[in-house]
Amino acid sequence: MTGKPAGGGSEMRLKWAGATDPGLVRLQNQDAMYADPGLFVVADGLGAPGNGDVASGLAVRAMASRSPDSTGALVAAVEHANRVVHTRSVKQAELSGMGTTLCAMAVFDTDDGHRIGLVNVGDSRAYRHQDGRLELLTVDHTRVAEMVRYGMITPAEALDHKDRNTLTRAIGVAAAVEVDDWLLDISGGDRYLLCSDGVTAELSDDEIAEILATQFPAADAASALVRTANEKGGKDNSTALVVDVQITHAGDDGQDEAQQEPAPASGRGDDAGSGAAGAKTGRRRWFSSRRARG
Ligand code: MN
Repeated sequence: MTGKPAGGGSEMRLKWAGATDPGLVRLQNQDAMYADPGLFVVADGLGAPGNGDVASGLAVRAMASRSPDSTGALVAAVEHANRVVHTRSVKQAELSGMGTTLCAMAVFDTDDGHRIGLVNVGDSRAYRHQDGRLELLTVDHTRVAEMVRYGMITPAEALDHKDRNTLTRAIGVAAAVEVDDWLLDISGGDRYLLCSDGVTAELSDDEIAEILATQFPAADAASALVRTANEKGGKDNSTALVVDVQITHAGDDGQDEAQQEPAPASGRGDDAGSGAAGAKTGRRRWFSSRRARG
């Protein structure tokens, strides 16, 4: 996506790619993801087989029906997704109790340039890789993460704690949901990762940082993350959505420009190769676990 001038004659470009895989143990992929040039979503469905994928699919499609242009609108979109999933689980007995995590990022055009809004419910995560440093942007809503925050256990003890998969918040399990939100400045040259816990359960932050620092383009990084999760056990579905944000300023020496593709829209689809048409036309797309691959 080529953004409008972000002030001072600068221009923003997004390049993105996602990968998802059921892993080596689970029969079904209950993760879902969605990407268009301005909105990126990862959801990890919870519940019995046949339920979690309904929840994550519904949530992702509900998000995709909105075009949030502020963090308030992004939070409202998550609340909308919560109502959609919860209403369905109440109306359809066999889907009772289904839910999903949801982590989403949107790029906004504000008066003083582009900003990134981020929202999270559950234990999917968003990271930013910038200047060789990996930063966890979201807070996990798990019982174990709370115990670490309150100093009851150490981060090391949390890694194999029996309650590490117990969520304290999820989309669809109740009529209302509390949503964490952040508004981020864009420095340019930032790489963002949205991922399900199938990635973070198998890879350490150092391993994630190494892949994000060395694998280009975004599609290579996304597939490497999912492939490595499988190599390390693949005990859960894993999903990685990598978004590169580049800002070029008028008067730059053109070195950065030369490394970019000439087309104004250079977003890319999943590894199955759905291509950049969606980004170019602005057509919205979502990726079910059935279409995407690792
Ligand atoms: Mn998971």
